[in-house]
Amino acid sequence: MGETSSAAADSVDRARSLLRRARRVVALTGAGVSAESGVPTFRGQGGLWRQYRAEDLATPAAFAHDPRLVWEWYGWRRSVVSGCAPNAAHAALASAAAAHDDFRIVTQNVDGLHIRAGNADVIELHGNIARVRCMACGAPHSRALVQRMLEAANPAFAGLTAPAVPDGDAHVEDIDFGAFHVPACTHCGGLLKPDVVFFGESVPRTLVADAARSLESADAMLVLGSSLMVYSGYRFCEWAHRAGKPIAAINMGRTRADHLLALKVEEPCAAALGALVERLDDREFAR
Ligand code: NAD
Repeated sequence: MGETSSAAADSVDRARSLLRRARRVVALTGAGVSAESGVPTFRGQGGLWRQYRAEDLATPAAFAHDPRLVWEWYGWRRSVVSGCAPNAAHAALASAAAAHDDFRIVTQNVDGLHIRAGNADVIELHGNIARVRCMACGAPHSRALVQRMLEAANPAFAGLTAPAVPDGDAHVEDIDFGAFHVPACTHCGGLLKPDVVFFGESVPRTLVADAARSLESADAMLVLGSSLMVYSGYRFCEWAHRAGKPIAAINMGRTRADHLLALKVEEPCAAALGALVERLDDREFAR
């Protein structure tokens, strides 16, 4: 952890002891894990919800009201994500999962960075911004195909770039988004939607069940870079706590589950997780 304090090193050591006693671990990750890759979080310092309203951009009502605006928002987020690479936190988690059969990653992130870091087995609770699905018939569509459809229908948008800036805002060129055409499903003509769970939608049951099974057999839970303000993530902490499983968090700032945590490391994920997983690799991690 470089120059970080001895208090931080001490809390990482305590997290390590907690994990040493666990045979199986579930790690629940959130936007903070990807922050050091350059993907803005929603909450916390520089969070997007300081600039935008979730209700306008990421709810079923927003999509019904103005699908073009929602496509534009996700198009911008996707362009940010595609310019980012996994960081040391994703790499540490991928190596922990590869080294230990019983280390399961469940993510609230939609950026696909766990997969790009080599963790194909991640449970993506809220979907993946790189995929597209039809709202009417549910058919998945390749993002590459939809991108071609989008570019063909919207030539004025083809060269549009919207780089993220440090305050979480974006420099979007002065373009009339009212002229933007949303592509239709190639099977039934229905409305295509980014394959993400909007606020107010439910996480697919199969994913919840898969994550719940992993948690049921786990002895400990790690929360990484999440405010846990979204209930679909928070409920796993409630379940773990009720079942007497210790929960350790690495998160800068408050989480909704602070009262349920056995310990918290208030340090950036990349350094803290790197240090934690490096020490787990010494085989003291019970298997
Ligand atoms: P959140 O934005 O609510 O909370 C992120 C937390 O991480 C904050 O408490 C913040 O202070 C902390 N944090 C920021 N940088 C950190 C770092 N380097 N190390 C440690 N902690 C750090 O995120 P959430 O709890 O995941 O919110 C859930 C919703 O946000 C999900 O639905 C998710 O899909 C969506 N989201 C995803 C992404 C992504 O895919 N990368 C980005 C933004 C939001």
